[in-house]
Amino acid sequence: QWIYLDGEYVTKENAKVSVYDHGFLYGDGIFEGIRIYNGNIFKCKEHLDRLYDSARSIQLNIPLSREEMLEVMAETIRRNDMRSGYIRLVVSRGPGNLGLDPLRCPKASVIIIVEELSIYPEEAYLTGLKTISVSQRRNIPDALNPKIKSLNYLNNILVKMQSNYAGVGEAIMLNSQGYVTEGSADNIFIVKNGTVFTPPCYLGALEGITRNAIIDICAELGFPLKEQPFTMHDVYVADEVFFTGTAAEVIAANEVDGRTIGSGAAGPITLKLLEEFRKIVHVDGYK
Ligand code: PLP
Repeated sequence: QWIYLDGEYVTKENAKVSVYDHGFLYGDGIFEGIRIYNGNIFKCKEHLDRLYDSARSIQLNIPLSREEMLEVMAETIRRNDMRSGYIRLVVSRGPGNLGLDPLRCPKASVIIIVEELSIYPEEAYLTGLKTISVSQRRNIPDALNPKIKSLNYLNNILVKMQSNYAGVGEAIMLNSQGYVTEGSADNIFIVKNGTVFTPPCYLGALEGITRNAIIDICAELGFPLKEQPFTMHDVYVADEVFFTGTAAEVIAANEVDGRTIGSGAAGPITLKLLEEFRKIVHVDGYK
């Protein structure tokens, strides 16, 4: 396995970063997770837009232009002979000293890892996942803006720990006002009486690229969709609940906090959206 690390292609064993890297010391950096489907980098432009916008927002100078980034992504995929899998792009503030000051970090580090993806078994897309809501609150915009896909994932990791403890597949995070925001690494949607709802991102959700793709698919299929705040009550009484994300694609929740959702399996709108999503993943991308 070849990993791109600051201008070089190194093996997994040799892919090491400095203990003074502020990505390691402080979570100072950003990342992207992207799918490769059949040789296509899915929604490549959207992922690079989010990466470069996140960088700009935190004044992180990515030492590669977008064109150069695309070239090294394509080369990393080629060297790993990967037709279908996952690309992780990481840009950290780079090595500095022990102080916080990013001015002490002269050059950002860029890492590209390409790997096979193993997430949910195919039957989970039909049965759905058990989920819970967790007490951990999502950072809301007056903390770290959720548009920034930063390396600070401790909040999400604490959510994952709660879902592990409960033995469920995903968890639902609320913000401090009690509005539903997202999952630990996925966006959330609910369906009620034929209308699809998802929370506005300003409540405290990452603007997921899969989320936006599903919003577009809803428009194409003529499914009414509203970006609107909702609470756990609305989730409990929904006909369908599903999550979206690069790794998960579109996956239903069959149970939330012990309440069965719909028929207790993936509902018809969720399955239709998954089907349409899987039709576009092979074509809508960069080759
Ligand atoms: N929310 C969080 C916190 C995430 O980490 C992710 C995954 O990247 C998502 C949502 C889904 O976003 P996307 O569809 O861009 O993968």
